[in-house]
Amino acid sequence: MNIEKLIEKEIDDAKQGEVLSIPKSEAASKKMYIESYGCQMNFSDSEIVASILSDEGFHTTQNINEADIVFVNTCSVREKAEQTIRKRLEFYNSVKREKNPKMLVGVLGCMAERLKEKFLEEEKLVDIVVGPDSYRDLRNLIEEVEDGKKAVNVILSLEETYADINPVRLGGNGVTAFVSITRGCDNMCSFCVVPLTRGRERSRDPKSIIKECTDLFANGYKEITLLGQNVDSYLWYGGGAKKDFRKATKEVQNTSITFANLLDMVAKINPKLRIRFSTSNPQDMGVDVIDTMAKHDNICKYIHLPVQSGSSRLLDVMKRGYNREKYITLIDNIKQRMPDCAISMDMITGFCSETEEDHKETLSLMDYVKYDYGYMFKYSERPNTPAARMEDDIPEATKQRRLAEIINKQQEHSLFHMKEKLGKTYEVLIEGVSKKSDTHFYGRTTYNSAVVFEKGNHKLGEYVKVKIEDCTSATLKGKVI
Ligand code: SAM
Repeated sequence: MNIEKLIEKEIDDAKQGEVLSIPKSEAASKKMYIESYGCQMNFSDSEIVASILSDEGFHTTQNINEADIVFVNTCSVREKAEQTIRKRLEFYNSVKREKNPKMLVGVLGCMAERLKEKFLEEEKLVDIVVGPDSYRDLRNLIEEVEDGKKAVNVILSLEETYADINPVRLGGNGVTAFVSITRGCDNMCSFCVVPLTRGRERSRDPKSIIKECTDLFANGYKEITLLGQNVDSYLWYGGGAKKDFRKATKEVQNTSITFANLLDMVAKINPKLRIRFSTSNPQDMGVDVIDTMAKHDNICKYIHLPVQSGSSRLLDVMKRGYNREKYITLIDNIKQRMPDCAISMDMITGFCSETEEDHKETLSLMDYVKYDYGYMFKYSERPNTPAARMEDDIPEATKQRRLAEIINKQQEHSLFHMKEKLGKTYEVLIEGVSKKSDTHFYGRTTYNSAVVFEKGNHKLGEYVKVKIEDCTSATLKGKVI
């Protein structure tokens, strides 16, 4: 395959990650090409990077051949994500060799700390490695590499929240935006690499969050998703790591701001501004958060509540900080206070020592909750996590079979919830043109269900009432009334 064809194919492949772009400017002297993989947090971080580099005269491009620098914002959560990113790096290097020798290659985010030596020294795949707390250092790092050095900064911080950075909204629809509220994670779940790659948990100054959300609404945005690895754990007491909260004075502790307080403040910006948040952690989600959701119509009635397993024994091995009974109590509280609230989960199957009995408990928990959606994964061992010291003892075929069983069950439940909506009318925020038909828009209900309908004279960012006429397990179809 010649290089043009390869580039076309690779850009297509990259769409499972996303190429982000802002309009080209005549004045732009330097161009960056940036791809993001993994969680919403990574996409949000790329917007911070674009903002920091735009101050240095960089503009983004979607054409890798003209890029002065290419960055991949990486994900380490599962082994498969890492393999995808490695392939991308090999591709950038082929472009560099054959098309664009001046181009620098940089790795951002979660893979930085773990693979810095391997990428820089051993495999010579990259020129710059930048960890998630070092984006402000990008300018120096680029200068270093221009001076012929390999540039790396993977220092994790106890304070950095990029509170003052106004993210450049990349590749967006002008309707929905992510706003980061916490960084890092203190939970130390035994399977999870996030605390190692993103550092200790810290919360962002609520004033800067409210300002960012208010500005977004003033600029036409209609929906904000507050982001963090564990949003329920948000705690503002003047700055610094959450683990140091106990060292603060009583007065400071008593005037601290919790996630429920923050949610309430953001919801009050304007009733026409929809609020979502992700991700919740069952060990930290309090009834105060549920009550705040119930109080405000503009807080979407949808909670993503990763459970990971239905077995208390396995939850203990995973160090999740709750058991099956506590999780069920939380679900019951949500259903009692907001009977129509949609709930989704993450589930890991085939974790170390998982028995057939544990797996059955997972299936029975799914039957109890009847999740609206689910994100289900086979366990993959992550280096240096506590679980990496355990035996990854579930045969691949068993992992695969159990995964298929939970996916099948989830599809039944998703279809059940979608069918319940047939004939009913929902308010939908128009977010974009349908991927399958350019005469149709898609949007979402408060329950996070995707709805497709004819465009008519409607516009992006408008709220419309749609009567549901048909569905699959993933999408509703309807007519604007
Ligand atoms: N902070 C959230 C939490 O812990 O509930 C989500 C963290 S992670 C970015 C997203 C999902 O990836 C997790 O909820 C989990 O289901 C999955 N995951 C994390 N580590 C994994 C591993 N080692 N193997 C398979 N799946 C994993």
